[in-house]
Amino acid sequence: GKRAFIAGVADDNGYGWAIAKSLAAAGAEILVGTWVPALNIFESSFRRGKFDESRVLPDGSLMEIAKVYPLDAVFDSPEDVPEDIKTNKRYAGSSNWTVKEVAESVKQDFGSIDILVHSLANGPEVTKPLLETSRNGYLAALSASSYSYISLLKHFVPIINPGGSSLSLTYIASERIIPGYGGGMSSAKAALESDTRVLAFEAGRKHKIRVNTISAGPLRSRAAKAIGF
Ligand code: NAD
Repeated sequence: GKRAFIAGVADDNGYGWAIAKSLAAAGAEILVGTWVPALNIFESSFRRGKFDESRVLPDGSLMEIAKVYPLDAVFDSPEDVPEDIKTNKRYAGSSNWTVKEVAESVKQDFGSIDILVHSLANGPEVTKPLLETSRNGYLAALSASSYSYISLLKHFVPIINPGGSSLSLTYIASERIIPGYGGGMSSAKAALESDTRVLAFEAGRKHKIRVNTISAGPLRSRAAKAIGF
């Protein structure tokens, strides 16, 4: 069977959860990366059975998650983590959650994966029109929503089996104007799409790994509700 790592699962409402379920139904072993500040709620809800109904697979069994890794995809390695985050209560309780460390942990625990899914995005100023967006807000959107994919792929490539596949999720706002999708999020998706072409070329040639992005339709996930979509 195949093994998949899905980054960006913190509840049962988003694309990451739905993709995990489809892969599990197809027989894959599921590992997830959960944003550090959301980890406790996700794990305790899972343990308390809050997701049991939505864990049901077509054959009637419940989706299992082999391991949940804390992850913050805006930090590549421990040297990049600023002091205020390191000492933050929500972060201090977890360890090894930078991208590089998560890839190392997955390697230690499982050796390799076949499928890498990036289902995460964040834009602190998403509710502001692009014209009102600050430099920091714009760069934060690109860091969390675009570079996070480059970083994940870069660090996971050595443990993705040849012939493996990698996927991210994009949105039509990269190509057409969608008022309300601000803060540089439209720019972040445009970067993600362009990077997908370049990364497909590079990772395909060098490592025989496919790289794709799916432009998903509107879904009332936690992220979408937060911007009133
Ligand atoms: P979601 O809230 O379920 O998923 C986003 C996840 O990203 C959350 O679990 C959040 O905790 C995580 N996250 C945020 N910052 C992070 C960080 N720094 N490190 C690690 N994780 C972090 O919402 P979703 O809508 O399912 O989003 C998944 C993907 O689908 C995103 O790329 C989103 O842009 C894309 N998408 C969503 C829609 C939609 O309508 N919901 C449409 C097209 C594309």
